[in-house]
Amino acid sequence: MALMITDECINCDVCEPECPNHAISQGAEIYEIDPELCTECVGHFNEPQCQQVCPVDCIPLDPDRKESKETLMDRYIRITAKA
Ligand code: SF4
Ligand code: SF4
Repeated sequence: MALMITDECINCDVCEPECPNHAISQGAEIYEIDPELCTECVGHFNEPQCQQVCPVDCIPLDPDRKESKETLMDRYIRITAKA
């Protein structure tokens, strides 16, 4: 499952540099996660790094994007191969 940022985001910019996949960016109003780049940090870390640092706890799993560990690992491999 990719993660998503809710409208409780206060634009503090703490999460963006923590993402190993560069999936987080400033959107029109709040920060956003590109689901095509988010691996839940699979391949890099045991825990989603953005969730760990968000001061207002506004980065839940996106219920519309349920993905298996294998799918996330495949994405990690694809992203790192491109890098
Ligand atoms: Fe980036 Fe990991 Fe957060 Fe996904 S869970 S947006 S890969 S820091
Ligand atoms: Fe928004 Fe949380 Fe990221 Fe700060 S850490 S920009 S509040 S999502």
